[in-house]
Amino acid sequence: MNAVASPPLAEVLHYAAEAWQHFRAGRSLDRALAAALADRPDLRPAVQDATYKAVRHLAASERLVELLAARPPAAEVAALLAVALAQLQTDNYAEYAVVDQAVSSARNSLPTRGAAGFVNALLRNFLRQRATLLSELQLNDTVRYNLPHWWIERLQRAYPTDWTSVAEHQRQPPPLVLRVNVSRLPTERYLANLNAAGMDATRVGEQAVWLHDARPVAAIPGFSEGEVSVQDAGAQLAAVWLDARAGMQVLDACAAPGGKTAHLAELGATVTALEIDAIRAMRIEENLRRGGLTAHLITGDALRPESWQSQIEDLAKTETGAALFDRILVDAPCTASGIVRRHPDIPWLRRSADVAQLTKVQRELLHALWPLLKVGGRLLYAVCSLFPEEGREQVDRFVGRHCEARLVPLPAAQLLPTAARAPAWQSGLPTLHDGFFYALLEKTG
Ligand code: SAM
Repeated sequence: MNAVASPPLAEVLHYAAEAWQHFRAGRSLDRALAAALADRPDLRPAVQDATYKAVRHLAASERLVELLAARPPAAEVAALLAVALAQLQTDNYAEYAVVDQAVSSARNSLPTRGAAGFVNALLRNFLRQRATLLSELQLNDTVRYNLPHWWIERLQRAYPTDWTSVAEHQRQPPPLVLRVNVSRLPTERYLANLNAAGMDATRVGEQAVWLHDARPVAAIPGFSEGEVSVQDAGAQLAAVWLDARAGMQVLDACAAPGGKTAHLAELGATVTALEIDAIRAMRIEENLRRGGLTAHLITGDALRPESWQSQIEDLAKTETGAALFDRILVDAPCTASGIVRRHPDIPWLRRSADVAQLTKVQRELLHALWPLLKVGGRLLYAVCSLFPEEGREQVDRFVGRHCEARLVPLPAAQLLPTAARAPAWQSGLPTLHDGFFYALLEKTG
């Protein structure tokens, strides 16, 4: 078998530093990597790994540069230092190799060439004082949890006793969790197949299996055949708690990339999947195709049902022509504060004011979609957030204003992220999951 040669570290650092600059200019890591690697897609695995590592050490690295540099370096140099310092904090490469390759990378690029000596001196200076500097930095919560100050304040207010464990769990590497398509095979049988193939895995929910060693989807047994999908066990609760069954008309109102759409379809419901972003909507189609599933896909704005209602046939309608659903899933856009271990860029891309802005969008979505629910039907409101404004407070306000909305009890409303290693599931809630808020509303009149 031919081993794939690793690209030179200097090259990886160079492209990771370029992605870092796009990210610090406000792009998500995904977009930043795509922009940096437009002409070198072959470097994606190594550069992605280095860039994610840099983001997971953002607060520490930026503070180290403040402490070790007499004045703030130029953006290109700061970017190279951020990715190199992250490598030095994670022990993947020998220290001398990181310093040597960071200096080579600086020399090979015009904007950093003049700073090669400075990069060398700063990294060596860090290594000389490494233990003292890192232990001092751990006293600073922003560095310790790699979260902006405003984010920590919100967590502290919402979870005065639990916020440190929430923040600690979100620093751990994200576990790879699969949803077994139980219309194909039972969860236990899939788990047994993995174990027979020598893969360590644990059942962590009704349909959820945690594969201990992360791997690309193409190397996950049964993935291409649609036997399993990648989906956090907390996210798997949506379709189950919505209690969507065969014969029901379900609207998945914010559907891309389609993880929950596919789950609803696997459970036999007739699904209309609505998504505003045409590019993201293509992912829904891919997800359904892999599982041999179908749904009615509409690209449209959930806030303006009148603009896409005419595309829906075979549904009960009101006098004004509005289609009516038995079940509605509102998996609303949110801060994503519950899934930081998968998306470590989020806290650094958001601003505190975004919380109010997103809360307003969520409120408008609920307001626009509620009339499309049949009497006796149920709407599940979901956000992958930990902030109460987007969860409990949002739903309390809605129920306070709608006397025909009854809150149906669920086994849990606010799920806090668990540790990334979990015991085997026996029954009830999953033992391993990210952070989510759920509320199930029934229309009583
Ligand atoms: N339910 C998805 C899943 O499980 O794969 C995740 C949904 S994600 C949290 C929210 C989605 O809502 C995004 O894809 C976003 O583009 C979409 N969205 C935001 N505003 C929308 C609107 N007004 N109408 C329809 N979709 C919207």
